[in-house]
Amino acid sequence: LIQVFLPLNTLGFVFRETRDALLNTETLFRLLRKAPDIREAPQAQPLRGGDTTIRFEHVDFGYEPQRRVLHDFSLDIPHGRTCAVVGSSGSGKSTLARILMRLYEPDAGRVSIGGQRVDELTLQSLREAIGVVPQDPMLFNDTIAYNIGYGRPGALREEIVAAARAAQADDFIRLLPDGYETRVGERGARLSGGEKQRIAIARAFLKNPPIMVLDEATSALDTKAERAIQGALERVARDRTSLIIAHRLSTIVNTDEIIVMDGGRIVERGRHDMLLAQGGLYFQLWELQRQQQQTETLER
Ligand code: ATP
Repeated sequence: LIQVFLPLNTLGFVFRETRDALLNTETLFRLLRKAPDIREAPQAQPLRGGDTTIRFEHVDFGYEPQRRVLHDFSLDIPHGRTCAVVGSSGSGKSTLARILMRLYEPDAGRVSIGGQRVDELTLQSLREAIGVVPQDPMLFNDTIAYNIGYGRPGALREEIVAAARAAQADDFIRLLPDGYETRVGERGARLSGGEKQRIAIARAFLKNPPIMVLDEATSALDTKAERAIQGALERVARDRTSLIIAHRLSTIVNTDEIIVMDGGRIVERGRHDMLLAQGGLYFQLWELQRQQQQTETLER
């Protein structure tokens, strides 16, 4: 018994000691189905900061050699601007984010931030510069304050509350039985999907990185939660260079630029009104969502 018990206990100890160090990596790797083998270049330089223009140039990529996911993909997100990516499931939206964070390497072409190629950056500086709000944020079975404070170890309570306010999470947190001290349960089980995502946005506010990657949740939300998320996403993206992977088109109607992907290529780009007027794929996606929402409303 002791033999079995001891190593497990040691593991528990090691886990507690290292979970902080692991979280960021884990958040990133949750975007993956398999962990790739990415190494830092021997002469890697830290990201200089300042200009954080994101540039994809002629990127080809496939998870498997026979199946290409991105085809000659080029995109510029100017410093401080927001770009939303939409497209049907499997069109390659999340893949863009994974390549930007260098969780995968392109087969051809290059990706750079402020003119520095991401494969020539130290992994630490790259990952520190990018905040991620994943679809299904990872929460600890701890308090709300702990889960937000995670964005920046050592943050003061006022800073945590300010971040929650900015993420439009403060209102719902105050209504919980123990406010910021409320425990969220295993993997945040006591919170709704929209609430969890706002906690993740608050965490991102606290981290305050120059670049944001937001992978919007697909789950249907009621109108009020939808509006709160929309406001929070807009604010966390503002004044940063941001890539939003959008599933609910209603959240990106005000975005600087929307790109529409199909089969790993950009097929349309522009602002919401212009894309709707074009009557192409964006228009079709919009109509589809409108019909789905109507059905959901009727079913409720
Ligand atoms: P969704 O809207 O459903 O999230 P998406 O547009 O983000 O989809 P991606 O996740 O970028 O699509 O996937 C693009 C293609 O690559 C899909 O065909 C998908 O099945 C495939 N794919 C994604 N991740 C992997 C992986 N780790 N290994 C192999 N194939 C993958």
